[in-house]
Amino acid sequence: MADNVVPFDGPPMALLVHCRSCRRRTLHVEPPGPSGISYAWCEHCGHEEEVPRTDRVVELEDFLRWDLPPREWLVEGLIQERDAVMVHAFRGVGKSRFVHGLAVALAAGEPFLRYGCPDPRGVLLADGELPREELQAMLAAQVGGEPERLSAPFKILAADLFDQPLPSLAQRSGQDLVEAHLEGVSLLILDNVSTLCGGTGPENEARSWEPIQSWLLELRRRGLAVLLVHHDGKGGAQRGTSKREDILSQVVQLTRPAEYSPAAGAQFEVHLRKARGVFGEEARPFEAEYRTDNNGRAVWAWKPIEDDITAEALRMAQEGVGQREIAEVLGVSAATVNRRLRKGRKEQP
Ligand SMILES: [Zn+2]
Repeated sequence: MADNVVPFDGPPMALLVHCRSCRRRTLHVEPPGPSGISYAWCEHCGHEEEVPRTDRVVELEDFLRWDLPPREWLVEGLIQERDAVMVHAFRGVGKSRFVHGLAVALAAGEPFLRYGCPDPRGVLLADGELPREELQAMLAAQVGGEPERLSAPFKILAADLFDQPLPSLAQRSGQDLVEAHLEGVSLLILDNVSTLCGGTGPENEARSWEPIQSWLLELRRRGLAVLLVHHDGKGGAQRGTSKREDILSQVVQLTRPAEYSPAAGAQFEVHLRKARGVFGEEARPFEAEYRTDNNGRAVWAWKPIEDDITAEALRMAQEGVGQREIAEVLGVSAATVNRRLRKGRKEQP
């Protein structure tokens, strides 16, 4: 470290910055100079760099000179660094299971359903609803008796683990409680919006959402990604004010498949309803299935949605791909491909 550099002695948020060299959240950032450029140094590996970071208006010329590294995907096709993302579904569809599976996979750096998690990343799971016994049982199934798989921190802030009611995250006291535990955390999960962020007025009014929105933007500036979990309202949209969608990068809805059999465990379709940086294959809906094996461990599987199989098979057939190969690519039997193609061609105009 250069002699003339005074280590940043600010709030703990300075430690949230990711070091590009050792990838730990150990980068200290100084207050910015006149051009909006801060000097930063890593406590862990000694890496030094200039970081654009400003609390003032900058000239376009200065701004264009900023070296902004591309945001990395925490969960490929779903959550990028500094994203705010929402998962919504009707009660009982399996939101919490989905979110727990995703959180464990992220902390382990393992794939989850169709999503890849390239690196283990720290998670803070805030739960406002589940009884502690149920939360423990659900997470135990996801971890599958192998907690050593998780190489990044996994912290739990559950309302039912506190003696006193949790302060609303729409209030400073609630936000402080969360922020005290963000070291080493890349993704904050709020399960769910209604139970954790209440008390600000009617859910369908935009101004009730404003304190949360300001906080989410603040967390983004600090380098954090947030996953909001929410209930569906009437009509199948996320419940309450549409203002929530403003700052969200991706919105995912989980729905019951048409042929749902409760005996089979949790089954749901995953639909991307809003996507800022996701296209093509990654934006396609798919069907997810959750069950437990004989040892009570979570087993997840996914497949393309049926209608999608037909459309995809037709497209590939038109490109001259053989039925056997189509079956292989789509993960279904050759007989299914044959049946789908005949049905699809009959239905085509
Ligand atoms: Zn470093």
